[in-house]
Amino acid sequence: MPNNDNKVGNMPTPALVSTLRQQAEALVLQEKPTASLDVLDDLSPEAIRKMLHELCVHQIELEMQNEELRQAQLLMDDARARYFDLYDLAPVGYCTLDEQGLILEANLKAATILGLDRRMLTRQPIARFIFKADQDIFYLQRKRLSQTGEPQSCELRMVKHDGTQIWAQLAEAGTQETKNKDFCRIVLSDITERKKNEVELDQHRHHLEQLVLSRTAELAKAKEAAETANRAKSTFLTNISHEIRTPMTAIISLTYLLRRTKLIPEQAEKLSKIDTAAHHLLSIINDILDISKIEAGKLELENTDFRLADILDNVRSIIDESAKNKGLLPIQIDSGDVPLWLRGDPIRLRQALLNYAGNSVKFTDKGLITLRSKLLEENGDKLLVRFEVTDTGIGISPENIPRLFQPFEQVSTSSTDKYGGTGLGLAITKRLVELMGGEVGVDSTPNIGSTFWFTTRLQRSQRIIPTAFRIMKPGEAETQLKLKHKGARLLLAEDNDVNREIIVALLRSAGMVVESVPDGLEAIKKAQANSYDLILMDMQMPNMDGIDATLAIRALPGWKTIPIIALTANAFAESRRTCTEVGMNGFITKPIDPEILYTTLLKWLPPKMKNAHNGAIIKHTKALTNIVSSGTTTDAAVAQAQEKSNDIALAQMAKIPGINIPYCQSILGGNAERYLELLALFIELHANDMILLATSLDNGNYKEAKHLVHSLKGSAATLGIDHLAKIVAHLEGKLGDIEYKTLHNDDIHLEMDTINLELKAISSALSFTPIHGNAVYPEQATLRIALKKLNSLLAESDTAAIPLFENYTESLRSTLGLAYEELARQIKGFEFEKAHKTLQSLLHQNNET
Ligand code: ADP
Repeated sequence: MPNNDNKVGNMPTPALVSTLRQQAEALVLQEKPTASLDVLDDLSPEAIRKMLHELCVHQIELEMQNEELRQAQLLMDDARARYFDLYDLAPVGYCTLDEQGLILEANLKAATILGLDRRMLTRQPIARFIFKADQDIFYLQRKRLSQTGEPQSCELRMVKHDGTQIWAQLAEAGTQETKNKDFCRIVLSDITERKKNEVELDQHRHHLEQLVLSRTAELAKAKEAAETANRAKSTFLTNISHEIRTPMTAIISLTYLLRRTKLIPEQAEKLSKIDTAAHHLLSIINDILDISKIEAGKLELENTDFRLADILDNVRSIIDESAKNKGLLPIQIDSGDVPLWLRGDPIRLRQALLNYAGNSVKFTDKGLITLRSKLLEENGDKLLVRFEVTDTGIGISPENIPRLFQPFEQVSTSSTDKYGGTGLGLAITKRLVELMGGEVGVDSTPNIGSTFWFTTRLQRSQRIIPTAFRIMKPGEAETQLKLKHKGARLLLAEDNDVNREIIVALLRSAGMVVESVPDGLEAIKKAQANSYDLILMDMQMPNMDGIDATLAIRALPGWKTIPIIALTANAFAESRRTCTEVGMNGFITKPIDPEILYTTLLKWLPPKMKNAHNGAIIKHTKALTNIVSSGTTTDAAVAQAQEKSNDIALAQMAKIPGINIPYCQSILGGNAERYLELLALFIELHANDMILLATSLDNGNYKEAKHLVHSLKGSAATLGIDHLAKIVAHLEGKLGDIEYKTLHNDDIHLEMDTINLELKAISSALSFTPIHGNAVYPEQATLRIALKKLNSLLAESDTAAIPLFENYTESLRSTLGLAYEELARQIKGFEFEKAHKTLQSLLHQNNET
């Protein structure tokens, strides 16, 4: 037998074993053998035994594998149990849904959330548990899931099996093993508590927002109220300061007049003290007026060209004398590299500097004061300039510096005792400087000295400015005008007789040759016939106003460049623009301030040809100024006589009720006699105004009525009859929209009556015969109205009853007889209730008779 590796002795060959195994396996699988077992017949017993042995081994192997499988199965069961535990005990609900959305399985939590036994849940559509209105959210999410395959999540309301509504978060994802079948798994969380908290939070937030809104509104209201109160305070301060200034002016003027009379030394000394005290008081009132004006936002800055050196010189000249009196060295000025001509508000700049400079003298006992200006920035025409006032005075300790520049702050009360003051100067300076776009500050060392500084935004002046138009000392403009333009020919067009007289007098006293006309048409005729160096043109005139007249004059040959200056009571920018548009050069507001009139003339009058005489005059300005300003005569006796009669006139002026004496003195260069003449003319022209007004009103001729009142107001203001101008202005205000509203005739007649009384008072102060019109004016009618008004004022305990009663003293006394005294006592004693009763019974008796 050949040696064969597959066959050992009579052992079945491995090939045979393999065949047998295949057949056995086929048998197991198909349960029918593919080959017959006849092959076994060929095997030896040994081979069969071996094969059996081998089969035993295989069986053991199989059993071992079976055991392993059982173990694995046990492990798997264990794991599965654990997984189910986890699945059931998870804090969120799990559900598996089929493609129709039916629940295939759910964990315990899902059952709890949905409120139904787990077994009952199976085959339930999940949509059944979704709140109707939120179904769309769920379907949309399913659609997105099937489109993208991406896990989705939404929050919606669900309804538990028992009908309770809950909020749930529903996260969905397709399952791995059921990918092709559109199965999905849902993670369900009950977020009702969170939602509730969110709603509460939202409510809180909303409430908070409401609270913030209402608080903000309250704050805004409080702020508004505070601002209103502050404005009211400022307005009150402005009014009260204004009101105080009027009697102050009277005190100062009367003191001035008294000092010019014969006095014993003791009286003179006392008057001098009154004068100093009054001026001091006036300066404090002015400070208060300034600060309240600034705080009320009523202070407007000018923007004009000026020469810096003039301001610095002016400040020096003001403090010079007191510095000298204190033994200080001469005041130094260093204007640095600041351009000579600037544009800004010279008045306010001077005021700020003067506040610093005044303090420096006040707080310095020895050494030197320096006024300095420096250019800090330059951007085209725009400049930032720093001003400094340095002194070698008492200085300020570092802890006191932060308190400076606050209103009413003074470093120490002892300084107030020693140096006086209100503590307003620095505060005003700070606010002025801030209005001028700058800042304030101070560097100071106690006992060494201080440097108070401020910066301000200014512009480089564009124009070559005539030297005449700069800040001048009082009276300087008039002197300059006399020196430079004496004999200049001027035309004045002004319809108001009193205004015309005054302006003509002012111009003549400055050496001008003046012709005057009452309207625009006449002005054109004059301009056609004559040549003038300048025209002063009123804006509102009958027949032809200033605008049309200017347009016509500008069209005349040779009249293109002759200066025409507008005169108007309307100071608004709009009105200024109209003047410029029609070719006017300048603008003067009424009532005319002589200084402004002269300064404007200096600015616009064309220079005269220089001659030897003029040169000489200029060389001796000072000496000549005295002569020119006191008149041209050198005859001492005549001058003395003139002064005396002027004094008498001044004393008479002082008796005229409601006039602004310093102003009246200034308008005609102190010529009181001339003033009284004009006042007499005024009374003559306006005495019957109220009768005319009553007639115009009765006839419905409102235009004429308004013109009458406007003209009376203008004349009164020009003549400085402040009180009359004020009450007429009030009446004018009432007549303003006369066409459009029903007039309160009683009020109008009362005001007319008051004006009439005022005119009468002026007339009798001038010791003229009583105003003719009184007899004609329907006094009884107005008395009746006045009594009615008095009755209602008394009923309301209104103190306005007192002046009203006083206004009618004479007529009431004669009408009421004995009852007058009783009524007067009650009203003046503020017993308004009693007075009301008295008056009512009087009225009652009157009605019965
Ligand atoms: P007033 O001088 O009227 O008191 P100000 O507002 O001008 O008010 O000044 C406030 C305070 O600042 C002064 O009272 C003074 O204490 C201090 N002060 C101002 N200027 C100087 C200065 N040049 N030297 C020392 N102290 C000064």
